[in-house]
Amino acid sequence: MHIYNSKTRQKEKFVPLEKNKVKIYVCGPTVYDDAHLGHARSSIAFDLLRRVLKADGYEVAFVKNYTDIDDKILKKMSQSGKSLGEITSYYIDRYESDMNAINVSLPDITPKATESIDKIITYIQELIEKEFAYILEDGVYFDTSKDKEYLSISHMNIDDARARVDSNKDKKDSKDFVLWKFTKDNDEVSYKASFGDGRPGWHIECSVMIDEHLAYKDKEYQIDIHGGGADLLFPHHENEASQSRCHSGVNLAKYWMHNGFVQINNEKMSKSLGNSFFLKDSLETLDGEILRYYLLSTHYRANFNYSLDDLKISKKRLDKLYRLKKKIAVKSGSSTNKKFKSKFLKALKDDLNISKALSFIDEMINDTNQHLDSNPKDKALKKETFSNLEFISEVLGIGLIDENLYFQLGIDKELKQKVESLIEQRSEAKKQKDFEKADKIRDELTVLNISIQDTPAGTVWEGESE
Ligand SMILES: [Zn+2]
Repeated sequence: MHIYNSKTRQKEKFVPLEKNKVKIYVCGPTVYDDAHLGHARSSIAFDLLRRVLKADGYEVAFVKNYTDIDDKILKKMSQSGKSLGEITSYYIDRYESDMNAINVSLPDITPKATESIDKIITYIQELIEKEFAYILEDGVYFDTSKDKEYLSISHMNIDDARARVDSNKDKKDSKDFVLWKFTKDNDEVSYKASFGDGRPGWHIECSVMIDEHLAYKDKEYQIDIHGGGADLLFPHHENEASQSRCHSGVNLAKYWMHNGFVQINNEKMSKSLGNSFFLKDSLETLDGEILRYYLLSTHYRANFNYSLDDLKISKKRLDKLYRLKKKIAVKSGSSTNKKFKSKFLKALKDDLNISKALSFIDEMINDTNQHLDSNPKDKALKKETFSNLEFISEVLGIGLIDENLYFQLGIDKELKQKVESLIEQRSEAKKQKDFEKADKIRDELTVLNISIQDTPAGTVWEGESE
């Protein structure tokens, strides 16, 4: 496996801290609103990484947190009159159901910041004692000048770093950041702490949760891979890395991975532009797997431009996989074609080279179709193809829908019921040897843009795809 490491800015051979094991931490969402396409893309990118590592024989421990205490959540509380728990548990459920719709597997652990408050307080106390943190009127701050390696992850220019951090003028240095915010008069959420009641800042959570749930305590790094969106590289990841390094004496992660942004029709995605921002909006008209395949098809580090035209092209490509799944019409496999499997995995092991991997799938589909056109009864090939498709499903999380249902996606319930009923009437007519009526029903279905096929397992049907 080779991975592009943001820290060294190059592709490196992946050498795990412990043989055959990988520890991955990915920064999760702040749960105050629904997931948007950027969340979907990041989740799919790291879900792919996890699946590829597993397919390559690694035992993977995958942790992704929920930031369930934050200014944005507090704002939502005062707007809605709801409690912190009501808001965060609602959006966590929504998030998990959206992720499930795009076949993103649940992490092994999903820690919440509010469940680690005691650990966060102890951690900050230790940073204060070791003089890596200092107390001001409004909170506890991290002293970045004490870390000689500060900015070694993001390679941010020091002046830019200073300019980008919002400043409290009493800070020792404008790039210092808050670890703990002291309670203000109208704050509804406050935790007791010896250095002053308040609540944690954002960056500290991840360092503490990694330390609590994932970190090696005896190695030169705490975990193998730390991931997130490119927007997290600075300041979030830089600050996480710095705190962890100062607290534990070792570096946080050996490899830092960042996924690119999502744009919509070449515009920055934003709520104010109203450009189908939320994942739930896309899922209203689109099956999650079609969206997954589309979001997956651009390399994770590149920026992704979402457009309906590209989505249609992408779907046509996925159609071919389902067309083959339907054609082979077997329900069990033999074993994956060795050559295909090795080429496909090799591509993905090269920093998740998805374009190459997908082109090997296209090639496998074309070759199989060609062969089956001249040898339609080649059962061995059909079984091997079944296994190939199963392997693809396992690694890419696509191809999981029933092949007959796939070609009925996007057809509304009413029409579906009508079609099912017409097909039933037609079978009945055929049973009665009333072929005239059966043909008439077929014509009626054709008018509805429904095509039917009679198979040994009964009649199956398809809607017309665009
Ligand atoms: Zn984080």
